[in-house]
Amino acid sequence: PVSRAGHLLDDLNPAQRRAVEHAGSPLLVVAGAGSGKTRVLTRRIAYLLAARDVHPGEIMAITFTNKAAAEMKERVADMVGSRARSMWVSTFHSMCVRVMRREAKTLGMSSNFSIYDSDDTRRLITLVARDLDLDPKKYPARTLAVHISNLKNELVDPETATAQATNDLERRVAEVYTVYQRRLGESNSLDFDDLIMRTVELLQTFPDVAEHYRRRFRHVLVDEYQDTNHAQYTLVRELVGKAGGEIPPAELCVVGDADQSIYAFRGATIRNIVEFERDYPDATTILLEQNYRSTQNILTAANAVISRNPNRRDKSLWSDLGEGEKIVGYVADNEHDEAAFVANEIDRLVDGGEVNNSEIAVFYRTNNQSRVFEEIFIRLGLPYRVVGGVRFYERREVRDALAYLRTLANPDDTVSLRRILNVPKRGIGERAEACVSAYAERERISFAAALRDLDKVPMLNPRSRNAIAGFVEMMDELGEMVAREDDVADILEAVLEKTGYRTELEASEDPQDHTRVENLNELVTVAREFTELELPEGAEPVPSLPAFLERVSLVADADSIPDAESDGVVTLMTLHTAKGLEYPVVFSTGWEDGVFPHMRALGDPAELAEERRLAYVGITRAQRRLYLSRALVRSAWGQPSANPASRFLGEIPEDLIDWRRTEPSRSTPAAATTWGRSASGGMASRGLSRPAPGKQGWKDAPAMKLDVGDRVTHDKYGLGRVVAVDGAGLRATATIDFGASGTVRLMLIGSVPMTKL
Ligand code: ATP
Ligand code: MG
Repeated sequence: PVSRAGHLLDDLNPAQRRAVEHAGSPLLVVAGAGSGKTRVLTRRIAYLLAARDVHPGEIMAITFTNKAAAEMKERVADMVGSRARSMWVSTFHSMCVRVMRREAKTLGMSSNFSIYDSDDTRRLITLVARDLDLDPKKYPARTLAVHISNLKNELVDPETATAQATNDLERRVAEVYTVYQRRLGESNSLDFDDLIMRTVELLQTFPDVAEHYRRRFRHVLVDEYQDTNHAQYTLVRELVGKAGGEIPPAELCVVGDADQSIYAFRGATIRNIVEFERDYPDATTILLEQNYRSTQNILTAANAVISRNPNRRDKSLWSDLGEGEKIVGYVADNEHDEAAFVANEIDRLVDGGEVNNSEIAVFYRTNNQSRVFEEIFIRLGLPYRVVGGVRFYERREVRDALAYLRTLANPDDTVSLRRILNVPKRGIGERAEACVSAYAERERISFAAALRDLDKVPMLNPRSRNAIAGFVEMMDELGEMVAREDDVADILEAVLEKTGYRTELEASEDPQDHTRVENLNELVTVAREFTELELPEGAEPVPSLPAFLERVSLVADADSIPDAESDGVVTLMTLHTAKGLEYPVVFSTGWEDGVFPHMRALGDPAELAEERRLAYVGITRAQRRLYLSRALVRSAWGQPSANPASRFLGEIPEDLIDWRRTEPSRSTPAAATTWGRSASGGMASRGLSRPAPGKQGWKDAPAMKLDVGDRVTHDKYGLGRVVAVDGAGLRATATIDFGASGTVRLMLIGSVPMTKL
């Protein structure tokens, strides 16, 4: 077999080759961006199969996105054909779903459990907090959700959280966590963090289950190891097993770069990569130093920025691709001007035949920044795709339709059931819902069971009773299709018909409702395609409803990244999503203090270091051309504000940057370097801190049309209801009640990070 494998080593450097060939002890490959870590991981899998006669079924590889997993699988399938199917290549979450579906019974759950995403989680936490009479101002659901998620990432269960709580907040969190966890159980549901935590629990509590997986998976490989959290770290340890046991530990290979750790807010800790050698004392570490992705100028800029971070191991990363072009810098008047610059530049590059659209990416710090780019790209007819943002599956109508499907698949899924109980309106009011809920809580039965026990539910009026009975009857009819294992697309069609959901939207005069109908049709198409997917030969057919729901709940942001060659579109995404990717041309935008680095990080050294790593990730995505831009004025949360230059810009040696446009009156160097807080007054006197009416960009920016009573979702404040609308045109404002986040008055000009629901 080694001769067959020889070519697998041909295009690797000696260090990479050693990593691919290494056998036995745990292996850590640490290296800077673009040094071929992912290439080593993929190649290693191929090499295991070709040269070491490992069976694909013995391999478990963990990637950061489902897309990366699919690509890896495909490459291996090209080599070994259908045998590749028995290999597990997936994200942590997908892998855990797979284990949990098989082993749910061991943990006393049924295998048709639902997976709650962050929105479902927040809904359930809101319900729990309300039942516990917590003041939503003091304990917003969002905050509670973050704390509970942190506990889960640290593998702290409710009992331990309760015992460890030392202050009021921690005690409240523990209380909510306890009830929340119980309700999840009653709903036969797991949230995202549970997927990992409960799998760890499974492996730690049931040695025979753990042994089964350890016997099976003899090779465990993990990409982007710097972004694992404690729960994921423990999961890997459990899968690998310890020396001295009955089964020798699996071969472990992890690759990563501490400088690219950008998920601390999800509990990721570089401790895992930094202390790998302590965790696995017989580990081998291999360093890679040559970067194959970027030109030297880009690399020098990246190194200059990251070297400002304290407590890091310095790496010497070099490239032999030559100096390349200088980095292009641009200072825009406002975000519209910035977007126009990017669009024009893309036009110029593509017209010149240097690159095509799909080789270009535009990055920004937060999702809401995509809107201005979209506006101008649409106007210019520049094809683009936004990765992430308000995703298809997050739209209200899509969530409603999916909630019906989820309720049908798992009647105990209370969050989904309560979501659609009165959608479309069928006369089941909040009071009736509360009566049923109280009854269910008292009897310790599920909400669905309580709906069937109507006679015993106190204080229900006859009208509600009838309405609920009608609803139950309709769900039973639909349930028959599920029992028959009808195609998910047919079930979905029946849901849209029988509930009257589609008819109601079609009858509406609101143009937004027509878009909603289109989205629902799109969902039917997705379901139809899913049904018609060809099963791999030998695979057992599974009922399409649960399989479809599982697929839908695991679509990660990065999964919608267009295929580089096939789509002629520019890709827009956040810096976080860009991790692991590469593009010949990169526009990284919004380099302003308060935007990037994020406002939150300005006074916090740890957060600032994380933002700097994000800058490093962003810069190192570029292969040949890098553009860095910022805007003097940007409207944030509906208010225009003057932003100083990002401190990271100043960390890049000036001679690497070719400034196409600088600040208007950058007369003295001193003014340039102190252009910060103190300078914003100066900007105001130049009339820059307010949008100048009539100035291109602002004039074009459409005022958002809102009426009293409209429901909106705001990127920062969440869900809200409009309570007042004042002024018109440039002076239009809306006062919006965001519940727990308070009541806020917002200007409606420019790009408000808000969507009308
Ligand atoms: P990141 O830290 O951004 O995830 P990485 O270390 O995983 O980067 P890869 O994506 O594996 O790096 O590799 C970067 C680029 O360099 C890819 O296009 C890859 O194909 C190429 N590359 C890696 N090693 C070699 C090599 N030995 N010869 C030629 N090209 C290489
Ligand atoms: Mg990589």
